[in-house]
Amino acid sequence: MKLYNSKTQEQVSFVQAVKLGLGRERGLFCPSFIPIFTNMDELLEMPFVIRNQKIIRSFIEDEIGGSKVDELVRKSFTFLPRLVRATPRMFALELYHGPTFAFKDYGARFMAQCLSLLAGKEKITILTATSGDTGAAVADAFYGLSNIRVVILYPKNKISPLQEKLFCTLGKNIETLAVNGDFDICQSLVKAAFEDEELKNKLKLNSANSINFSRLLAQICYYFEGVARFREFYGNKILPVVSVPCGNFGNITAGFYAKALGLPIKRFVATTNANDTVPRFLQTSKWEPHKTIATITNAMDVSEPSNWERVVEHFNKMLVHAIGNNWQMNEGNIQGISISDAQTIAAMKALHKNGYVAEPHTAIASCGLSKSLKADEAGIFLSTAHPAKFKEIIEQTLGIQIFLPEKLELASKKKILSIDFNPSFEELKKYLLA
Ligand SMILES: *Cc1c(COP(=O)(O)O)cnc(C)c1O
Repeated sequence: MKLYNSKTQEQVSFVQAVKLGLGRERGLFCPSFIPIFTNMDELLEMPFVIRNQKIIRSFIEDEIGGSKVDELVRKSFTFLPRLVRATPRMFALELYHGPTFAFKDYGARFMAQCLSLLAGKEKITILTATSGDTGAAVADAFYGLSNIRVVILYPKNKISPLQEKLFCTLGKNIETLAVNGDFDICQSLVKAAFEDEELKNKLKLNSANSINFSRLLAQICYYFEGVARFREFYGNKILPVVSVPCGNFGNITAGFYAKALGLPIKRFVATTNANDTVPRFLQTSKWEPHKTIATITNAMDVSEPSNWERVVEHFNKMLVHAIGNNWQMNEGNIQGISISDAQTIAAMKALHKNGYVAEPHTAIASCGLSKSLKADEAGIFLSTAHPAKFKEIIEQTLGIQIFLPEKLELASKKKILSIDFNPSFEELKKYLLA
């Protein structure tokens, strides 16, 4: 497949895009072309893994071969999304049944499998900083891949104990450094390492970062599963409105790719918390990021979402390709809605009244959906994290007890294997080369 750099227009292959992550001048790699499926009914009837093989083959079979794609998909998609009716017309697409109980497992696992395949016999080093959640998804996704060494830096005592247990107890090829400092210091150490020629060349450093294009390919797949299950309730009569809880806007970008592939979705609701740069942009056409505001949905506390550039590129390209859809960036295709913390809490309570327990990020998506739905419509909200990951706030808000899934319970009893680390680049370099 061909992709282009959003800043320089240079073309790259899928393999290059995965290895590079980010393009020159900090450009994002965007698909030059999106195929379209004409046999949608047939595709939606297929089992999850088989269907995903078809979808991902349509992008990268030409480059890495069909049987390799099938293997990548089989190894990555080891857990199913579930569509659960939460209210009479709103369905939760639960994406959190993976190893670290968050939807990021889908993107992270597929990216890890791609990098491992592309590295072949070479040994590469993944170096990354985390303020919590992404660390767990990345560590778990790469765990046990013998040609990949993973080094994760995180701010000591500044992430939740449960988060720390999830990714600092694994061992094997996963090394974790507890840095005496904050997240910004961790990030600047990682950045310095990527600017060091000796490290870059000797260790074949890769950041496996959140804007890697491979993640999006994986995320396209669960939208198909959501629509397939939705059809069991409504047939082809009602197309779902889909509400996505947006932070960096990677998730919703994959949604737009899914729709371009031909997936019947009525419109998207880009639901944000108080960090409402995109909803304001959709109203006023002015891009005016404010200072980031801390909310109870901290995975969505982003005021300058990097993937938004991909959404803009996509709408521009799709208008040109004219594939029969109306790809104007208007309310018929994408609606932006911002939800306050108070509304988030109210939405958690409203869902619970209907018998559905949601953590705050999921509740935001449900709130955006209920504001958007008209009387004759029905829809899907994406459920991005397991309630147990936000146990405290749910227990406080709903007055119920949340039990940890067995795997979290087991992890919470394991020993932390992290090494205490002083924030010095020289020491980091010594450590990495040792
Ligand atoms: C990362 C994350 C989001 C936001 O997803 P983006 O792809 O960054 O828009 C939403 N909810 C949870 C729980 C997350 O971890």
